[in-house]
Amino acid sequence: MIEIAIDGTAASGKGTLAKKLAKKYGFVHLDTGLLYRKVANELIINKKDTSSNLAYHSCEIARNLNLLELNKKELRSEETAKLASFIATYTKLREILNSKQKEFVANNKTKFPGCVLDGRDIGTKILPNADFKFFIDASIDIRAKRRLLEKNISFLHENDEKCMLHSLIIEISERDKLDSSRKTSPLVPANDAHVIDTSFIDAEELLLKVTKIIEGI
Ligand code: C5P
Repeated sequence: MIEIAIDGTAASGKGTLAKKLAKKYGFVHLDTGLLYRKVANELIINKKDTSSNLAYHSCEIARNLNLLELNKKELRSEETAKLASFIATYTKLREILNSKQKEFVANNKTKFPGCVLDGRDIGTKILPNADFKFFIDASIDIRAKRRLLEKNISFLHENDEKCMLHSLIIEISERDKLDSSRKTSPLVPANDAHVIDTSFIDAEELLLKVTKIIEGI
């Protein structure tokens, strides 16, 4: 099975790239951020997000997580992302979710010719021997603008748009900082990863660039 590991900062375009690659090559895809988001979302729904036993509850939820039940829409909020990033610092939780991700790859080995996983520690921890590793980044302004566009909001006033963009810049920067500075599996490019800046290229150009690397063109 061909393994493709994609890591990168929030809203850098790694998720779109992963989906496009999986579609192009008929590979199975796992957005690993959804596992952390799902645990965070369950904590919020069950009002355990302010509990003093956050680590314990996170692990309990993670153990029972079904990877086939990652309903994407309800997990997309910045509130969920923020808590996901916070609980992602727990070593025990990461161990549980790492096993789930590795199980996912093992279970699909005979079903698909390859897999694409995207997240923060794929090239360093989950698929350390991946055939191809990519680390995707872009400037914070561009990433916040992309997130805003995804929200598809029509603003009545220019100031409201600026205000929302400003909040997104702060939220994404804080999440990047936490993800990069944590002790367990921090967000860092694997030594053998191709590092790509998407600030001035769109999703199709990124796909082309990555495809050329994979196919050795
Ligand atoms: O990729 P996404 O923004 O959905 O991830 C949400 C959060 O989950 C990240 O900010 C990060 O803290 C955590 N995460 C992680 N390791 C992964 C995937 C996501 O720590 N492999």
